[in-house]
Amino acid sequence: YVSGLGEGKAMYLLFVKAETLTNSGIPVRSVLTSYYKSPHFLHRKHDLYNNYTSPDEVILCPDSQQSMYCQLLCGLVERQHVLRLGAVFASAFLRSISFLEQHWCDLVNDIRIGKLNSNVTNTECRLAMEGFLALPNPELADELEEICGHGPWKGILGRLWPNVKYIEAVLTGTMAQYIPMLEFYSGGRIPLVCTMYASSESYFGVNLRPLCKPTDVSYTILPNMAYFEFIPLEDGLRVTDDEEVVGNDKLVSLVDVKVGCYYELVVTTFSGLYRYRVGDVLQVTGFYNRVPQFKFICRRNVILSIDTDKTNEEDLHNSVTRAKKILEDRNHILLEYTSYPDTSTVPGHYVLFWEIKSTCEGVKPLDPQLLESCCISVEESLDYIYRRCRAHDKSVGPLEIRVVEAGAFDALMDLLVSQGSSINQYKTPRCIESGLALKLLNSKVTASFFSPRDPEWTV
Ligand code: AMP
Repeated sequence: YVSGLGEGKAMYLLFVKAETLTNSGIPVRSVLTSYYKSPHFLHRKHDLYNNYTSPDEVILCPDSQQSMYCQLLCGLVERQHVLRLGAVFASAFLRSISFLEQHWCDLVNDIRIGKLNSNVTNTECRLAMEGFLALPNPELADELEEICGHGPWKGILGRLWPNVKYIEAVLTGTMAQYIPMLEFYSGGRIPLVCTMYASSESYFGVNLRPLCKPTDVSYTILPNMAYFEFIPLEDGLRVTDDEEVVGNDKLVSLVDVKVGCYYELVVTTFSGLYRYRVGDVLQVTGFYNRVPQFKFICRRNVILSIDTDKTNEEDLHNSVTRAKKILEDRNHILLEYTSYPDTSTVPGHYVLFWEIKSTCEGVKPLDPQLLESCCISVEESLDYIYRRCRAHDKSVGPLEIRVVEAGAFDALMDLLVSQGSSINQYKTPRCIESGLALKLLNSKVTASFFSPRDPEWTV
């Protein structure tokens, strides 16, 4: 689809995640970390079409800030040769561009004087970077300074990397929330390409029309990757809950799915998962030969996700239930809550809207420390991946509680009922999407509080 890709390089920003050991000493790693550390990746043959600007040593650096700094530096030094930009997930790519926005002065200075910033302390990174900064390069530094320091950041990607042909990242599912920001930095002129649908359990599918719009992406299942079966979702999007046992007779095989219908994905993998419910909801859009093609609809139950974190309603509810005890000990009760993933800043963060009532006489202002303790309590109860994203990867920002005025949730109900919700069966949505509901709640915010520190997280 894109010619000439073998004549240049890809600035793909790839990162390893922190890992841990089981009691018997087996490493527990995310699938991509495992891949980057494997001989398949490290001893790969030279391939003109997969020539990355980032050296392997830099990709493998356990400190994501140092890794990001060095990877951006390599990409800037090689800016005329870079034909593709990307990362696995759109969130990681944007985080790196925002990092560039904050650190471009240091990066330009390193290029100008031909010396790596002393904040990069990882020995392997320093060694790997020697070749990139062998000599001072004031001409390149002047060009970069002109672009980063004197022009707008809208459309900057095309100016920094003038030969870039596309940007690649996962842009479907929860990652779709990052498309507007990517369009801002690309100026809407660089195609956004989303090629793969995969997971820790198995590789699933590829997009055979890589230049289509991100909203039109369908994945063609690769039938040799695992044994694929599907639970039909009979009422359109009604999804069976995790605990519900699905009879084997309900499962539909790969060749029997029907165009337009929704299914939950079930895999049996070569590594031994048997009829495992991945949790993804897919809709059939067509067939390639006899293989079905699917649109990714959503991850079952996930209501909040900024990066690789996936928080479901139950996790959120349990965390809020724990935190609200702190309020109750101080004569306040939590009347209602909902949440929202705020990605208007990078990194994005979870926002909770809380309506609080005092059980004491008289109106006293809320103690900021009390609400900050609630923020941290919610975060401490969220799962390992969330806490790793917050404390280690820094890919999720501090959680925020926005306190709303009395009656805000009644107003929310009125709005949703006026939009068609049944008044009898109305339940406060535990997550709201952008639009009128968000606007309404934001207009009722009386105070906002952030977690004062990272949640506990240990490898
Ligand atoms: P993990 O469990 O961390 O391996 O993440 C795998 C999950 O990420 C999948 O089951 C999907 O929910 C999500 N995912 C992976 N690729 C895509 C994609 N191309 N579009 C939307 N969601 C994706």
